[in-house]
Amino acid sequence: MKNIKLAAREGRPTSVVKAGTATFGTGFAVIAGPCAVETEEQTVATARGVKAAGADMLRGGAFKPRTSPYAFQGHGMAGLKILGIAGAETGLPIVTEVVDPRDVSWVAEYADMLQIGTRNMQNFALLKEVGQSGKPVMLKRGMYSTLEEWLNCAEYILGEGNPNVILCERGIRSFEQYTRNTLDLSAVPALAELTHLPVIVDPSHATGRPALIGPMSMASVAVGGHGVMVEVHCNPAEALCDAKQALTIDEFGKLMRRLRGLERFLAEQDTEGEVTE
Ligand code: PEP
Ligand code: MN
Repeated sequence: MKNIKLAAREGRPTSVVKAGTATFGTGFAVIAGPCAVETEEQTVATARGVKAAGADMLRGGAFKPRTSPYAFQGHGMAGLKILGIAGAETGLPIVTEVVDPRDVSWVAEYADMLQIGTRNMQNFALLKEVGQSGKPVMLKRGMYSTLEEWLNCAEYILGEGNPNVILCERGIRSFEQYTRNTLDLSAVPALAELTHLPVIVDPSHATGRPALIGPMSMASVAVGGHGVMVEVHCNPAEALCDAKQALTIDEFGKLMRRLRGLERFLAEQDTEGEVTE
């Protein structure tokens, strides 16, 4: 890919991106939390639950880019303050989406990592702004975008002097209607060839179905992903946003045990036969 320069693998080792206490690029990092910040009680209860289950980072949207202008758009600044409280209560670092270049500087005050959502992947003004924010950035794949288009967007952020970029595969549009999107898991090993940037997977928005989130998370470990981001809610039935795809805290706990088990198993396979003196 001739225009991919800063993001290109070109023999470079995988970048290690740190966001607070979370690390992307070595091991397998798990981000979990609600789709949207609704109330302090909901956010703190969910944060406590995912922390107890072993999550590395808390997610939660204060600015929600919704398909309908009439749907809940998030609490904005008030939501960021709640995220700050949940982060302080649990010690979990925070990732949250920013949708407007004018909001970047103050979202950056609350977030350990800034999220660029699928709908804004090619919002170049926003990419340049987060590139100058001094914060790590999670760049989600545009739902209609090729790997080359996606890497060009990473290039915009890196070009502003921000080396801390991770990519998040979140599914692309296909003719299939059963799943919300079609998870392109082959993007993970393909990107390992093309770029040194860490790559994680969002099985929640990719499938839209709780029963598929566990299997696709496990598969993300197997294909060499550097982590997953999973939507979890303390009471999914009451969620204001993406209620149908949220895992309960119990379901997430079970998934965490299986994920950590698979990780250990693969690490043992990798070291088996190595001579230690
Ligand atoms: C999200 O992760 O909160 C989100 C809105 O996802 P996406 O941009 O992938 O739809
Ligand atoms: Mn969501």
